Amino acid sequence: MTDLILSPAQPIGPVEDYLFRVEFQARGSPHIHMVVWIEDAPGVQDLEDCPDVIEFIDRYITCQMPDEKADPELHKIVSEVQIHSRNHSKTCRKGNVSCRFGFPRLPMDKTIIASAPWNDDEDAGGNKKGGVKAKDTNDVQEKECGTIDSKKSKKSKKFVGKKQREAKEKLKPVRDFLMDANASFEDLSDLLEKCKMTHDEYQESVKALTSGMVVMMKREPKDCWVNGYNPDLLRAWNANMDIQFILDKFTCIMYMMSYVAKPEHEMTEFLNSVIRDAKKSNVNERDEMKQIMQAYAKHREVSAQESVARVCSLPLKKCSRTVIFVQTDEDGLKMSLPLSRLKDMGPDEEDVWMSGLPDKYENRPATGDFNDMCLADFASGCRVLYSRQTEGPNAIPLQNDKGFVPKRTQGKSAIIRFTRFSEKKQPEKFYRRLLKLYFPHRTDDELKSEYYLTYEDFYNRGRGGSVKQYVDFNRKRYEGQGK
Ligand SMILES: [Zn+2]
Repeated sequence: MTDLILSPAQPIGPVEDYLFRVEFQARGSPHIHMVVWIEDAPGVQDLEDCPDVIEFIDRYITCQMPDEKADPELHKIVSEVQIHSRNHSKTCRKGNVSCRFGFPRLPMDKTIIASAPWNDDEDAGGNKKGGVKAKDTNDVQEKECGTIDSKKSKKSKKFVGKKQREAKEKLKPVRDFLMDANASFEDLSDLLEKCKMTHDEYQESVKALTSGMVVMMKREPKDCWVNGYNPDLLRAWNANMDIQFILDKFTCIMYMMSYVAKPEHEMTEFLNSVIRDAKKSNVNERDEMKQIMQAYAKHREVSAQESVARVCSLPLKKCSRTVIFVQTDEDGLKMSLPLSRLKDMGPDEEDVWMSGLPDKYENRPATGDFNDMCLADFASGCRVLYSRQTEGPNAIPLQNDKGFVPKRTQGKSAIIRFTRFSEKKQPEKFYRRLLKLYFPHRTDDELKSEYYLTYEDFYNRGRGGSVKQYVDFNRKRYEGQGK
């Protein structure tokens, strides 16, 4: 899939970054959850006026049934894999919603980005748009986006609920016609005429049903069971796909958390119960570990497809970026040197820990760019080499025998992760993290110096305020998108 999406043909445009995960559903076949960042993709600034976003969506995504004569191949594929069953499936039902994927989807003359008028209205809707997505919306268009504000007051929730019920009622005749397998329509106007509804009334009701911003794809009545697809990808993939333009960051993060990084809850619960039982039975730690290991190895159900994928070491997740965890806390987890090395050491030797990334950083070469580099730059811009990989034209030796690092020459800089501390509850850890990551240093003593009692003090007043400037400048480069 990445060979195709990343190919020079650029079926969905020039890809900047991607992240995917293969999931095997209920002992079944694999499917892929993927997020792709496209270079220079437009964003929505103004709902009423975003022709570039609409143009971008229409260029890459469609939900129209191809003409059988003009493109019999694609027509066949779409008919076979992209049509939502009129009978729905058991995964469609969720709560009191008959189809959580929103089928049959409502026809549209052209692609629009819809939003209910009160989503922008602070009086009626609580917070302004761009609020927090708290849960799946129960409206019919959930799958094509959907944000709902968790902080809405009860009154406004009631107000929105009432408006949505009214809109649903108004749209019922349209929906009934769409559900009717024997009914057929020339176009949307024809359908609306049969429902005795004007275009304006229809648009208004459709917008009223949305929670947050929603992409409503251009769709004729005959396409209301077709799921969105990219024609080039579908032709090559020849299996079902659901491709969507991401309107807001929060929806994207929710998607990634719930699908791409899906935890295996059942497994965790099962292991917890094994641990509880092991504790009760009073076995020693070694046997306890053994029991847990056996439970883990035996309990997880694996489909035939998944076992083949694993045995053949097929990649089950892939990301265009490396992610590196940087330890900034003094009390953080450390690994001791191997026993064989410890045995050769004197009893008073203190340097018994494996050197981590911060150690390697402090022993960076005293030359060129390395001198002024902060730890965040070092972690994201250099690759640490281990054991035999120490030779090579790009390997730069670190001081004090701490290994080698080459600068990342291929691909992009890594994304850094770190523990977050609360500024209010743990100010010392909080400011130590900022200094450690973003203030160039050679030893930890340089992060406070004897004239300042706290890290916070050094951050605010150190070197006549230039410490703060340095840290803020570098921090913005890594944490500019949020807090
Ligand atoms: Zn359904």
